[in-house]
Amino acid sequence: MEHFIQTNARCNSLPSPTKVDFATELIRTTQNLALTARSFRFALDVKAAYQVVSEDEVGIPELPEVETVRRDLEALLGPSAVIRRVRLMRPDLRFPIPPTLPRKVARQRVLAVRRRAKYLLIETPAGILLSHLGMTGTWREVRPGERDRHDHVLLELEDGRWFAYRDPRRFGILDWIEPGMESQHKLLRHLGPEPFTDTWNGEYLWRKSRRRLVAIKVFLMDQKIVVGVGNIYASEALFRAGIRPTRAAGRLTRAECDRLTVAVRDLLKESILAGGSTISDFHGAGGADGDFQKTFRVYDREGEPCLQCRAPIRAKTLGGRSTFWCSKCQR
Ligand SMILES: [Zn+2]
Repeated sequence: MEHFIQTNARCNSLPSPTKVDFATELIRTTQNLALTARSFRFALDVKAAYQVVSEDEVGIPELPEVETVRRDLEALLGPSAVIRRVRLMRPDLRFPIPPTLPRKVARQRVLAVRRRAKYLLIETPAGILLSHLGMTGTWREVRPGERDRHDHVLLELEDGRWFAYRDPRRFGILDWIEPGMESQHKLLRHLGPEPFTDTWNGEYLWRKSRRRLVAIKVFLMDQKIVVGVGNIYASEALFRAGIRPTRAAGRLTRAECDRLTVAVRDLLKESILAGGSTISDFHGAGGADGDFQKTFRVYDREGEPCLQCRAPIRAKTLGGRSTFWCSKCQR
């Protein structure tokens, strides 16, 4: 019986991956040729620009989906999993994988599977295995010896079970964090609070946003302010809070900050309860798209009547991302 942890069925059939692939190839070529840091930075920018476009197209795993994967992986591994060895089938994913990683994680007990923003943290006494799913990454239990060509990392347990990290587009990340270094890790140290912690409250948002002229929707999607608010969640949370996405962040009242922090938390909680599928889990063609669409109150509903007041939903591009709101319900 093959267990299967996947966040997003649609990821396997991306509509137009050519540009992202091109950018990824550009990055690899740049790395291989050891060109200047400047051209490497350019390649990253190209990829980032195309990834922004692609996120809306494919609905990459958002925080609720990653939390669902975390829970599934924790349950599958069980309380006494010991890693016999890790095998790297290639030296890199989005970034090079530390070559010392297999040696460090070998014979380690899995103490916990945690999540920070969209990073999975597989904790062992020797350190932490960091895994980011990128756009198409999945962790799954596979039959020992079985291997798909997109299985780039194999995790063999002492009890004989095998887990594979499968990632056709290879935008995922695998890294190793030494004990005590988590808060200083380059991918984690700039992250804002988790939306489910006490730190994320109206007072915090109000304080952070003072004198900021950037649109509140763009501000809300800044991972340094709070983690896990993707493009769809930002539009939906602002609708719930009755705040227009184009307003300057610094102009929000303290009461509006209270409403918005609650709306973000509730929305993400509901999505996790639904297995990460309420808001951003897309389904394949002919699948359950109808159910999924019903959960949107404003997102992707341009010109359709507001579900509260019947005024037509408006849309514009804000910070490069599609944005939707009701001009009557949101002030
Ligand atoms: Zn309305």
